[in-house]
This record gives sequence, C-alpha cells and structure tokens, in this order.
Amino acid sequence: MHQIIEIIKEKDPGQIEFHQAVSEVMESLEPVMERNPEYRRLKILERLVEPERVVMFRVPWMDDMGEIHINRGFRVQMNSAIGPYKGGLRFHPSVNLGILKFLAFEQVFKNALTTLPMGGGKGGSDFDPKGKSDAEVMRFCQSFMIELFRHIGPETDVPAGDIGVGGREIGYLFGMYKKLRNEFSGVLTGKGLNWGGSLIRPEATGYGSVYFAAEMLATRNMTLEGKSCLVSGSGNVAQYTAEKLLELGAKVLTLSDSSGYIYDEEGLTRNKLDFVMMLKNQKRGRISEYADKYKSAVYTPIDPAADCNPLWNHRADCAFPSATQNEINGKDARNLLQNGIMLVCEGANMPTTPEGIAAFVDQRILYAPGKASNAGGVSVSGLEMSQNSMRYPWTREEVDSRLKTIMRSIHKTCLEAAEYYDTPGNYMNGANIAGFDKVVTAMVDQGLV
Ligand code: NDP
Repeated sequence: MHQIIEIIKEKDPGQIEFHQAVSEVMESLEPVMERNPEYRRLKILERLVEPERVVMFRVPWMDDMGEIHINRGFRVQMNSAIGPYKGGLRFHPSVNLGILKFLAFEQVFKNALTTLPMGGGKGGSDFDPKGKSDAEVMRFCQSFMIELFRHIGPETDVPAGDIGVGGREIGYLFGMYKKLRNEFSGVLTGKGLNWGGSLIRPEATGYGSVYFAAEMLATRNMTLEGKSCLVSGSGNVAQYTAEKLLELGAKVLTLSDSSGYIYDEEGLTRNKLDFVMMLKNQKRGRISEYADKYKSAVYTPIDPAADCNPLWNHRADCAFPSATQNEINGKDARNLLQNGIMLVCEGANMPTTPEGIAAFVDQRILYAPGKASNAGGVSVSGLEMSQNSMRYPWTREEVDSRLKTIMRSIHKTCLEAAEYYDTPGNYMNGANIAGFDKVVTAMVDQGLV
C-alpha cells in the first residue's frame, strides 16, 4: 500500500489532493488485499490509480469587451470497468489535474456504491464563472464543448455539474454538443426538465445526504427532528441539504460561501431559504447579504489562511460540510467535537482532512464520507440516463422514492462491509471496501485492459 502512494507521489509530486484521496482509500483496503493475494499479482491497485485516459485542452473565448482569454480544459476518464465514465464538470480557478484526478478517483468508488452501471470520471476548467455575464459564460461553455464533444457520448462518458456548473452551464454545453453531433441524446445529466432532465436531479445530492444522515441516526434510535445543524456552502448541495433538513424538523444555523458565513441563531425558515436560492441562483450575490436582510443572523468573513474555520466552532448536533475539499481540518474537527457534534455527513467531496477524519473515527461519532453520503446526485444522474434511454420521464415521487432506496442501500452496504472487515460502524472503511469490491471484480473479469 505504502508503495503505491510512493509511486504516485514520485510520478506526480504536485498532485496533493490526489495523493490524499488515494492514501485514504489504501488504508481501508489493507485487510482486503491480505485476503485476496491475487489482486497484487494482477496489479489491481497500480491500475486503479492510473486514469484510463486524460484529455487536456485549450479553451479560448472572448469577453464582452472583445478581449480574448485562454483557459485550460480537462476530462479525466478514470475507470470504465462497470459502465461509461460518469462524473461532474467543475469550473473554478483552483481546478488543476491533481484536483480532478482526486475527484475522478473518488467518483469510481462512489458510482460503484450506487449499484448503477456507471464508471468514474471528472472534468472541468480553471475558468471562474463568478462575475461573468451570461453571454460570457455561454461563449466559454461553447468553446469548451467544441473540444470536449470528441471524447464524450451517451455510451462513452456522460458529464454532469459540480462547483460552478449548474443548470445554466449544462444548457449551454448541451446546446453546443447537439449542434456538433447533430443528435439529441442523453450525453449530459442535470438537463432542464423540458429537454431531457430528471425531476429531483437538482435536489438529489442534498436530499440524499440528509437521507443518509437519517439512516445513520436511526442506528442509534434517533431522528433529525429538533437537531441543530451546521451547513457550509450555499450552492446546489447546501441549498437542498438545508431544504430537506427543514422538512424533517431540524434547525439549520449556518450557510457560507468562499468569502464568509452566516450564523442565524433563530435558524433558517422556508422564506429565508427562498431568499438564499434567489440570491445565489438568480442574483448570483454573496451570502453576507443574508445578514443585511435578517437581523437574527451574524456574518463573519472566513480567512482561508487562518488555522481553523469559525463556522465549525458553534454548538450543534450535526454538521453537513457542503462546500469544497479540505474545509474541516484537524482543529476544526476538534472544535466540532468539543461543541458536542454527534454526526458529520459529507455533502462535498473530501471536505475533511485525514487528521479531521481520524478525530471523528477515534471518538466514534457518526461520520459519513462523501463518496457514500453525497452519492445521491450521481444516482439520480444515473436515473436521468435511464429515463433518457427509455424516453419516458418518471414522476417526482418515483424518482425521490428510488433515491431514498439507493441511499438506504448504500448505507446498509457500507455498514455490512465495515462489519465484515472487523471495523463495525466505520462508514469510511465500509464505503471504500464495498466500492472497491464491485469495481475490482469487473476488472478481473475483463482481463488486462
Ligand atoms: P456550487 O458551485 O453550487 O456551490 C459551491 C459552494 O461552495 C458555494 O457556496 C461556493 O462559494 C463554496 N465554495 C466553493 N469553493 C470554495 C472554496 N474554495 N472555499 C470555500 N467555499 C467554497 O457547487 P455544489 O454545491 O454543486 O458542490 C459543492 C460540493 O459538493 C463540491 O465539493 C462538489 O464536488 C460536491 N458534490 C456536488 C454534487 C452535485 O450534484 N452538485 C454531487 C456530489 C458532490 P462561492 O460562491 O463563493 O464560490
């Protein structure tokens, strides 16, 4: 195991998030490798950490003033053992190959856990949609797709949204794909409802995360009703996490963006959440405006260089990190524990550092890794693909009920795998082992490819 980590560090020394994601998984897999010595001979781990294909390309576009900009585009096609590559596109200035490889690697295990036939991939660009006009975002998306279309397709690779890529961007990307290929197909998920999208897809990651949390609490005979919750982010995942928490009677105290966070001592309400959705999805404003409007809330800026994030230093029962990677470090985790946290359910991908995870596991709180708890989004994307193939849309109730069933099944699978390998209640080990098992069995069956 150690050797694999040394190999990837030596090959790609700068890809720290990728090293982190691989190290986490490798730790869980030690007992599996001991019980299955043939995996070493077949070099399964070496194959898993090497993407099947990476494409990297230039994305030139022109802003509203006529100035030309050049961004970098990527698609990492990590593993297709159990289905076409599937995973989101991220548009954010921090995007680089290392971050996309970490996300694609996580996606392989996550997609396997959903039980749907989807391989793992991820892509995006260092383009920053913040502050850009709709016309600029459209021109960027069109230029991005003019290259990406060669590498994707409904049977090959089906991208979706992620940070910075929501319904607006998926629309522009789909429009250009359709024009270039002269075909209307289910090549992207997260589409608009009247052109092939699925009901519940925008809600799915947030709802799924809350369904997973409810399952975890049920193992201790508890529910979300009356629980105080810290939610980070104010984008797609955070909004629908908050919505479902409110519906189940929990109290949501915080939301954030990359500039700062609000703490509302009275908690969010439906009206306040509607304001956040309008603020973020239409006005594309900052979360600080929430505190201007609601006097029960206090806004605090977040300094990314500080040694901890004050959002995680409030008394609460549950935490739903739903913004970005490594947003809970060791100190944040200790602050959460000191403030009585009993459950941490990751909506974002890898939001907790290894030191933070160790603190949660050590204290035996209910801790769900993103690859299990945020799998609701890709699950409903998989359901969107099914509906596109059948050309028959399901009702909201049907999709929500399937989402619930999938989240329940992922929860059960994680618990069983953790138990089988003598780490009862360790969802991290359970998710890594169960995802690995499904992918590796397929890789072995398909030979050395
Ligand atoms: P959005 O772009 O809709 O929202 C992202 C939110 O996180 C925004 O509030 C944003 O603030 C904040 N944020 C982004 N980068 C940073 C940063 N570096 N530091 C602090 N805050 C930051 O993205 P999503 O809600 O879709 O994604 C959130 C997380 O969930 C990501 O980790 C993503 O990979 C994961 N995820 C998303 C899925 C989906 O279906 N959308 C599925 C599974 C996982 P600001 O506006 O200031 O940038």
